[in-house]
Amino acid sequence: MKIEHLGIAVKSLGTSDDLFAKLLGKENYKQETVEREGVTTSFYDLGESKIELLEATNPESPVAKFLDKRGEGIHHIAFGVENIYNEIERLKKAGFLFISEEPKDGADNKLIVFLHPKSTNGILIELCQEKGEEPS
Ligand code: ZN
Repeated sequence: MKIEHLGIAVKSLGTSDDLFAKLLGKENYKQETVEREGVTTSFYDLGESKIELLEATNPESPVAKFLDKRGEGIHHIAFGVENIYNEIERLKKAGFLFISEEPKDGADNKLIVFLHPKSTNGILIELCQEKGEEPS
């Protein structure tokens, strides 16, 4: 596993894109809405890993609820894996809980799944696998 990206919840991509472009010295390479998840994402490529800014598209979205409860800040850590199905099996056997055990389409051409923060010290953890990449 490697840290594929850090997800950061923001109130406004308009404001935060300006901030992160200034901070990182580069523009985002992609902005993408995942309507099913109620988020618009903005990605910055840092070479080894990425930053994903998350803005809610509606008040019911999980990101909107996170912002209400905790305010802006780190929302999740995403680990890149070669084979998401094998990792889900491995982690289930090790006693970890998942929000949903079925990988689904995420932003940036990924299959994603979230572990339940209850089983990971209160941290929301995402596993992601590049789509179309054959597991080795
Ligand atoms: Zn993510």
